[in-house]
Parts: sequence; C-alpha cells; structure tokens
Amino acid sequence: MTCMHSLDDTAAYQVITARDARFDGRLFVGVTSTGIYCRPICRVRTPRARNCRFFATPAQAEAAAFRPCMKCRPELAPAANDYAWSVMDASRTLARQAAQALDEQAASGDAKSLVDVAGHLGVSDRHLRRIFQTEHGVTPLQYLQTRRLLLAKQLLTDTRLPVAQVALASGFNSLRRFNAAFVDSYRMSPSRLRGEVEFAPLEGDSAVTIKLAYRAPYDTASMLRFLTQRAVPEVEAVEGLRVRRSLRAGAITPMAGWLEIEFATNAPVVHVRFAPALAPASGRVVAAVRRWLDLDATPETIDAALASLPGAPGLRLPGSTDAFEMAVRAVLGQQVTVAGARTLAKRLVERFGEPIATPWDDVTRCFPSPEVLASTPIERIAELGIIRTRAAAIIAIALAWNEVAALLATHARPEPLIERLCAIKGIGPWTAHYLAMRALGWPDAFPPNDVAVLKAMNQLFGIDSQRGADVHAQTWQPWRAYAVLRLWNSLEKAL
Ligand SMILES: [Zn+2]
Repeated sequence: MTCMHSLDDTAAYQVITARDARFDGRLFVGVTSTGIYCRPICRVRTPRARNCRFFATPAQAEAAAFRPCMKCRPELAPAANDYAWSVMDASRTLARQAAQALDEQAASGDAKSLVDVAGHLGVSDRHLRRIFQTEHGVTPLQYLQTRRLLLAKQLLTDTRLPVAQVALASGFNSLRRFNAAFVDSYRMSPSRLRGEVEFAPLEGDSAVTIKLAYRAPYDTASMLRFLTQRAVPEVEAVEGLRVRRSLRAGAITPMAGWLEIEFATNAPVVHVRFAPALAPASGRVVAAVRRWLDLDATPETIDAALASLPGAPGLRLPGSTDAFEMAVRAVLGQQVTVAGARTLAKRLVERFGEPIATPWDDVTRCFPSPEVLASTPIERIAELGIIRTRAAAIIAIALAWNEVAALLATHARPEPLIERLCAIKGIGPWTAHYLAMRALGWPDAFPPNDVAVLKAMNQLFGIDSQRGADVHAQTWQPWRAYAVLRLWNSLEKAL
C-alpha cells in the first residue's frame, strides 16, 4: 500500500507538524520557498502549509525539481516496504518489482536496460513504463537517476571515498556524467558537497563507514539473540550491539570482504563499517544490509496485524548476507537443534572455508562457496558428521546454485523459487519456505509442518493439528513470516 496516495494534504501536513517517524520514507515534503525536500522527521522549522508539496518518494520530489535536505538527508530514509505481494494487484506488483530491479541496478552499477527488466518480469517494455509511471509518479529513468544520486550523496557525506570512486560506486560510468547529473539535480558539485561535510574523527583504518536509518521501534534484542544463536564461529560474531562477519566472494560483491554493523543507542540508526575492497560495490552492500536487518519494515503495520501474538514491538525478520550459506545451513538444520546445526556448519567452514584477513581474530574465514562444495566428493562432507543424504543435498544445491541465485535476483514472487528448490533432492517444502523467508525476505512465508510453530500454537491457542494451524495462520497474512518468529520466540521465553 503506497499509503501516501490516500493521504490528503491536510493529513500530510499534520504528519509533518508532528514529525511523525512512522511516515519516514513514506512521505516527503517539498518546500516551495526553499526548493528543498525533507523527511517528516526533519528538525528544521515546520514550513507553512501553503508552501508544502507532498510526495511518496524522493524520485517524485526530485522530478518536481526539489533538492534533498542536508540536515534530514532523504537518502537515509528507510524504504516503504509496507506492502506484500499477496495483497497487491498485478500491475502494482509489477511496478514494485520493476522498482526493486532498478534499486538493484542503482546499487550494482550494472546498466541493464528497462527492456531487460521488462523481459525478466515477462511483460512488454511499453506496458512496464506505463504502470511504472502510474504507480510511482515518475519514469523508470527518473527513478533510477534519483536512486543513484542519493546513493552518491550518501557516500560523499558519510565516507571518505574519492569522488571518482563515489561516481563508480553509485552507478555512473563516467566522472564527467556524474558531475553533470549531480550539478543538474542538486545545484552544487560533488566536491562542494564534500567540502561542506564535517567528518567524524578518522578511525585508524580506511574502512568505509556509512549509516542507515530505520523506523522505530526495532526489537534489537530479538534480532541479536537470533543472530547470536546461529553465528557460525570464524564467519560471524555478535558482541553487544555489534555484529561482524566475513563475506565470501560472490555473496554480495564479486570480491570477498568483511563488514560490521552496530545498532546506535541514541537514534534509529545502524552504523555499518566494511572492508575498503568492497567500496566500489558500496550500493550493493547497503542494499544487502538493509535486507539482512530488515531495515525497511514498517513495524506499526506488522505489529498491529500480529497483536494476538506475544513479543516486543518492532520484531524484524532476520535476512541473510549470503543466500547460499543460508541454503546450506537450512539443510544442516533439518531435524537437529539450532546448536547442532551450528556445530555442523562450523566443521564445514573449518574444512572448506577460505581464510580471510579481517580486523578481528574471531572472524577468520569465509563460508564455503558453491563452486568448492559442488566439486567436493560426498565422502569428504559426510566425514564431518553430516549424514549422507544431507551431504548429497548440499552438493545438489551447490550444483544448482546459478539457477537458484537467478530466481533470488529477479524479485519475482516466491513460488518459482520454492518450486525450483523443491526439485532438488533433499530439499523439502519446509526448507524451501524457510529460504524464501530468510534469503528472499518473503514476509508471508509460513514453513509447513514446523514442529516448533505447531507447539507454540498449541500452547497459545490450543490448536493441535497442522490443518488447524494453517487455517489460524491465515489471519496473520500477509505477515506470516513475522508470526513464525513470534511463535518461535514464545517457546524460548517459556524455557
Ligand atoms: Zn530536512
């Protein structure tokens, strides 16, 4: 639901006056007297109502010739993910998928054409342009350009990357074009913007640091507990409000690296720090972290829909930084405890994971790559204590990975992914749905026949059959994945 289409100007003005953070990323206000557009949370003086124009996205504000505010920084606003595929009509779904494909392009610098995007989504280029304009109020090109410029603005503000690298990292393949586009939209050169930024004191390394905003509340305790319980030694470590991990080559970026996130205690912000080698792919890293930590969720919508379930407000769906790792770990987790799965993953990493240099002595290896596991004889995996059928399933996933990765990348509905995964021997519906939930971030995933879900539903609602559970769970659509997490957590608290 792009709720902004239904907010009239009076209501939108109230949001601005109240500095209502729930609307952050879903409403932007352009001020005609200054030519600047802001987030609702901006602390500058509230503009007069007659000077306000309201937009649902930065791209619309920029298409109307407004420039982003330097104080509230629209580029930090979380995206508006308060929609779910299952409740949208077909054109809206398509327009959203196209926007996601363009987001991915802005992040990667790949110059895929809209024709390719349309081809992937199975519609004509012309049809896609039309529904895109209807849903987003701008052309796909305007949308993409805004995304790139805002990413550039963020990198210029938050990092010390040279301007030429910023240009590349934000998807411009020539510095001249980047400068021209930047000046054209923001009426100042990239180097002048850089000059106006006050940097935090230099840290002792050249890591790229960046901050990402989310909509409060955020149940950080549940997220950190979830990640702690599953952290594979040498690959991932959680300490206080920080999570650090290695990134194997091919997981997010073509090169291997490392990253660390830290939840700020004084603002709804996550600080991200990553290896300088990943700088050219900064946009991809940012997009991956947003999905990993579910930073674009709209907690008030989700919490309201799940009011019948226990748990703190602001629960997020933990995603992943490496879908292949997630797939392998899902197989290792079949019919064993979380701790048991972690032990098996640890052995796999010790045997097959590439060593990597990071700033920490507890993150020393990358998760094994699909290429390595695809060419490993089954005996060598089985001898780690992984039962043979699961070792075979891991090899089968590794062999099919290119195809699975393509399905993950198209932002299509989850069904084709689930179908493809279930065609792999050793992958059942539970594992496939679990992957759709964690790797695709499908908010309505409901892994079938989950023992823990059934147990929790029995305790909470007296439901004693899978069929009863399925029927009851329908009331939680389209947020069943969040319901699953709440159900799992309810068992933990009971211990
Ligand atoms: Zn502002």
